[in-house]
This record gives sequence, structure tokens and C-alpha cells, in this order.
Amino acid sequence: MTSTPLPGAPFLAYRDSQLFIEDMGLQDLANTHGTPLFVYSKAAMLHALAAYQRAFVGRDAKVHYAMKANSSLGVLQVFAQAGCGFDIVSAGELERVLAAGGQAADVIFSGVGKTRAEMRMALQAGIACFNVESEAELDVLNQVAVSLGKVAPVSIRVNPNVDPKTHPYISTGLKGNKFGIAHERTLQAYQHAAQLPGLKVVGIDCHIGSQITTSEPYLDALDKVLDLVEQIEKAGIRIHHLDFGGGLGINYNNDTPPAADSLWSALLARLDARGFGQRRLMIEPGRSLVGNAGVCLSEVQYLKPGEQKNFCIIDAAMNDLPRPAMYEAFHQIVPLVHTDKPAQLYDVVGPVCESGDWIGRDRLLNIQAGEKLAVLSAGAYCMSMASNYNTRGRAAELLVDGNQAHVIRQRETMADQLRGEVLPFPQTRHASNTPNTKV
Ligand SMILES: *Cc1c(COP(=O)(O)O)cnc(C)c1O
Repeated sequence: MTSTPLPGAPFLAYRDSQLFIEDMGLQDLANTHGTPLFVYSKAAMLHALAAYQRAFVGRDAKVHYAMKANSSLGVLQVFAQAGCGFDIVSAGELERVLAAGGQAADVIFSGVGKTRAEMRMALQAGIACFNVESEAELDVLNQVAVSLGKVAPVSIRVNPNVDPKTHPYISTGLKGNKFGIAHERTLQAYQHAAQLPGLKVVGIDCHIGSQITTSEPYLDALDKVLDLVEQIEKAGIRIHHLDFGGGLGINYNNDTPPAADSLWSALLARLDARGFGQRRLMIEPGRSLVGNAGVCLSEVQYLKPGEQKNFCIIDAAMNDLPRPAMYEAFHQIVPLVHTDKPAQLYDVVGPVCESGDWIGRDRLLNIQAGEKLAVLSAGAYCMSMASNYNTRGRAAELLVDGNQAHVIRQRETMADQLRGEVLPFPQTRHASNTPNTKV
């Protein structure tokens, strides 16, 4: 048997002609559980986490998994049991952390639009920190905390105005973005926070974007944040922790992001040089912990040759894999069974009634109707963004651990989808084509 690992996906390999994730054949999993099917490798998640943990040996540091990347309970349990905290952006995500066995005390709460009800819930649960994104939010959080007789731990998210050189929809640390407080106004905001009775300043944070593939934007942001910490502490406000957000990219298509440990050894060297190396550190990685741990399996429904394009129509679509339609993102697509027959060029598309419903363009594939494909790098921002558009049930999810596959989400049924919907009028016996007259 020969084993050929796929680039960027260390737990995915062809054993002879069959694609495996850890010790499970994906063709067998697809046959047993149906398609579309998300399959995640636990070892790949822990491997990605270990790179951060190696970098932080000997430091006072905590990894808060940014769970919007993939918030399925089975995935959260893996990270909770590996000692991660969580970065949440809604009260619903807090409920998920608790349901997965995580602790509220390990949760930090980001997002520009926290409601009063969400603040109340998070305060009552006792989360570690609110990452506040505007001056107005400081005032509202203060009111809510005072009304509950509590003090809210806060960090202010600063917008360092650095260009992460990524897709405009996923850059967040530029002046024109809605996130954070402009760094020119940060000192004022801290002075305001420090005198509000319902708030306790504990930290500072920034998060400059996602799918970042070079170190420079991080180093620039770090310097800007440390400049601010010096100013704020000179004004007598102690900053207990430094949170540098998430955003590290993964290899989708010959992308070469720095490894988490080498990025962090450069950042830690800079922190040490500026005298902040022993400060409490937090990070909020999402994509880099799960993106390349997951694949989406799909069956080819039809091959449709055309004058300009050949289409390969699969049973996964933009409602399962929204990144191509949203960001023109690239996912590698490979067959589950490799053969040496000649390949043809296809646009791989889903069945949804939108021209934006494509999964990959101009892909060389050797495939027939009824055969199955894997869409790679599908662990992050796929299932968590999935929808029911076209009344498509959301896919099932499996977590593979060695030679075991655990169903962590059942395929959504039609009954699941209709639950909560209500017909507004009494049903008539012949609803169609009957004139609207009384008999
Ligand atoms: C989305 C997000 C993250 C995670 O970003 P990744 O690119 O997935 O690492 C971290 N922090 C905040 C505030 C976010 O909104």
C-alpha cells in the first residue's frame, strides 16, 4: 500500500486509490451516512492547536477558540477537553459552550452589536471578559452590570488601522471597518471605562482580519497595541491581559501562511523586546484550528457538457459551502477514489437556483455521475454558515478519531425544517383553482 498525504491536510491521504481521513475510508463513510457529509479529524484539530500551545510554553497564555468558525457541539467538546477557552459573538454561542461542557469563566465575548439581553446572560453566567467595540457599548454594558449589581470585566477592541492584505470582506482592522474603536480614541475610551462603576478594565484586544498569510500585519498591529498600552498605563489604568485576536490563514490553494508556532515566536520576541513578554496573553484563532481538519463529501449527480463549459453537478451547494459564493473562495476538490483515466475540465456546481452556486471553477477531474468527491478545507466557515436555502436540509457531520467515526450532527430532516412554521389561514379542501365564492 502506498500512502500519499494531501498538501496542507496532514490527516488526509490516499491509501492506494482510496482517500482516508485518519484511519477511516471516506468512500465507506459516504456510503454509510449519505451525502453531503462533513467529516472532521479530531487529530487534525489537536495538531493545529498544538502548534499554538508549543509557542506558548512557559508563558501565561490562553487560546480562546473563535467558535463561529465551527460551532458544532462535537467540535467544541474537543477544544474544551483540550483546555481551550472560547471567543463568542452571541448569547447563542455561550449556550453552545455550556452545552458542550465548557466553562463560562473561559469565555470572552466579541462583536459590535451585543444586546442588553446578551450582556445580562453573559454577566449572570460569569464570563471572563467583554471585548467592547464602541464607546456607546461601554455605557450600555455599564448600565446592565449596575442593574444586576455586577461588575463587567472589559477589554476594548482597538482598530489598529493595519491592512491584513486579505479579502475585503474578511479584513476587520482598517479604518473603514465597523469593528473596534479607532486607536486615536482608545485612551479616552479607557479613561471613560475606568470611571464607570459597572466596569472593570482587564485587557486590550485587536483582531485585524481573517485568512492572513504573512506575519507583517500582526507585527504592525502588535506594535500599535503596545504603544497604546504604554499610553493607557501611563494614565494610571492597568491592562492585565493582551489579546491579539485570531486571523491566521490556512492553505487552501498554495497559500503559505506562517505556521502558528513560528508566527508566535516572532510575536513573542517582539513582546519580550518591549517588556511585555510576561503579561497575560490571549488569542482567538478560529479558521487555523479547524479549517483543514474537515472535508465535505458530495456525490456527482450529473455531468453536463456544454459549448463553453462542462458542468459537474454535485449534491452539495452554496447552502452547505457558502465561501465560494460569498468571497469567491477556493476549495480544492478531489475524488474519493483516484483513477488514472484522463481528466476533463469542469465547473463544479450545486443544484441551487443561483448562478453564484458554484463550488469550484475550471477543475480538472476524472469523475462520473454517481461517484463521490471531497471538497477540502471545509472545517471552518462552512457548516456554521450553512442555510436552508432552496429548502435543503443541512448536512450531517462526523467526527473521526483514529478508526472511529462519531456522528456529531444528524442530517436535518424535513420535520426539523418545518418546525416552528405556522399556516396563517384555515386549510380549504380545494385550495387551488377554486373561485373565491361561498357555496
Ligand atoms: C472571526 C473572529 C476571530 C477568528 O478569526 P479566524 O480568522 O477564524 O481565526 C477571532 N476574533 C474575532 C473577534 C472574530 O470576529
